[in-house]
Amino acid sequence: VLVCAGAGCISSACKSVQSALLEHIEENGLTGEVKVVETGCMGPCDLGPVVMVFPDGVFYRRLKPEDAAEIVSEHLLKGKVVTRLLHRPAGNDKQVAGFDQLDFFKKQTRIALRNTGVINPESVEEYIARDGYRALGKALSQMTPAEVVEAIKESGLRGRGGAGFPTGLKWEFTARAPGHPKYVVCNADEGDPGAFMDRSILEGDPHSVLEAMAICGYAIGANRGYIYVRAEYPLAVDRLEIAIGKAREYGLLGDNIFGTDFGFDIEIRVGAGAFVCGEETALLASIEGKRGEPRPKPPFPAQAGLWGKPTVINNVETLANIPPVILNGPRWFAGIGTEKSKGTKVFALAGKVNNTGLVEVPMGTTLREIIFDIGGGIPAGKKFKAVQTGGPSGGCIPEDYLDTPVDYESLTKLGTIMGSGGMIIVDEETCMVDLAKFFLEFVQEESCGKCAPCRIGTKRMLEILERITAGNGRNGDIELLEELSAGIKNSALCGLGQTAPNPVLSTLRYFRDEYEAHIRDKK
Ligand code: SF4
Repeated sequence: VLVCAGAGCISSACKSVQSALLEHIEENGLTGEVKVVETGCMGPCDLGPVVMVFPDGVFYRRLKPEDAAEIVSEHLLKGKVVTRLLHRPAGNDKQVAGFDQLDFFKKQTRIALRNTGVINPESVEEYIARDGYRALGKALSQMTPAEVVEAIKESGLRGRGGAGFPTGLKWEFTARAPGHPKYVVCNADEGDPGAFMDRSILEGDPHSVLEAMAICGYAIGANRGYIYVRAEYPLAVDRLEIAIGKAREYGLLGDNIFGTDFGFDIEIRVGAGAFVCGEETALLASIEGKRGEPRPKPPFPAQAGLWGKPTVINNVETLANIPPVILNGPRWFAGIGTEKSKGTKVFALAGKVNNTGLVEVPMGTTLREIIFDIGGGIPAGKKFKAVQTGGPSGGCIPEDYLDTPVDYESLTKLGTIMGSGGMIIVDEETCMVDLAKFFLEFVQEESCGKCAPCRIGTKRMLEILERITAGNGRNGDIELLEELSAGIKNSALCGLGQTAPNPVLSTLRYFRDEYEAHIRDKK
């Protein structure tokens, strides 16, 4: 019996459901026969607490502790599915028993999330049973460091944190850069509103990140890694600490891994929640104990990163893809996705969509498939209006483009970005000027203040949006927003400022009439 213990299900009281299940299993003398496994996030957060019963794979949703007695007495003892606890997808009058019959799961391809929601994240044995640490073993015993770098390059894997830079090239630049020691850093400072992909991987499959960092260390010649994770993710920090302890105990981290002369160890650094610390140079400064502020690039971290030494910085989801690439070969990975965007992408579906939660799909899947087939469409019969991708650095996409295949290039063409994978869906009742204001408020608050265009420019933009939404907009405000946006994009020091105007620009591109109506119909 798998009990989802992702952050969403924990907040909907899955622990009390789990205790009740254990109690009834014991009362019925099934303790030796039935194992209750607490997993990371299974994905359909809106339906929590969720439980899957194997071997038949029955999916129960929105459970309460009082449902446990019936699951044990009917399903576990008599093999009868408890139909009243099954899920009925939106727009479907039939309940679905098997998790693999639900569109939500059926239409996904899980690589980065292969173990999330399947294994107990606190058990290294369960990770090993699912091929865990085999890729590290293969790299150390059968491949040279240069061959590992080559495999990652050939796979076409690109950074999943937002910029989409080729991961293999990043590793190659760092491997070739003069200077020692070298470092591997995992960027787990996920801060976009509505995004929880990295959090779920860390909470649900922490060893996949540790294994990938060790492989990267071997490939670039580093013996030490750091995971920079937000303090707001205490469960992720706990599970990472447990995973690092277990990996050391099993000789999977530390000196002489697998009896070779390669050693690698990892430390956790807990960030205090500043959004700007997701920017790589600010993150490095924060690990070094300095104020988390970006610095100009170049030099890039591959040449001068942590303490001035060559450093690879990869995001959590990027790293979670590394072991399968090594194990199954780069061609397998490159066979998934589109010509220039290989593999899959994890998205966090949030907002006005029936199935909120975490999904992983091949690159090139259309927005319509993600939002309507997997996400189940818009609740309460309302109309879809737009989807915001890329969080505060991204932009919104209206209905006309729902058949766009999702990859780095096509989203950029539409004036937004893939970003780290947040997808916020809005319906016909949402005011797009309000939405733009929400994101601008966020970046304004999170601006570190180091450079004037971002510190002052975003403040002026926010003031204009506030007066427009308050019914006090003036003629010329739209043009002023566009002028300020161009200035900030061209002159801000780091990615936070350079992308801050994007939500305003994209709402102006597709919903200009709403800005004009606010100004025309002013008080
Ligand atoms: Fe700081 Fe904004 Fe300048 Fe980046 S763009 S350095 S966040 S003030």
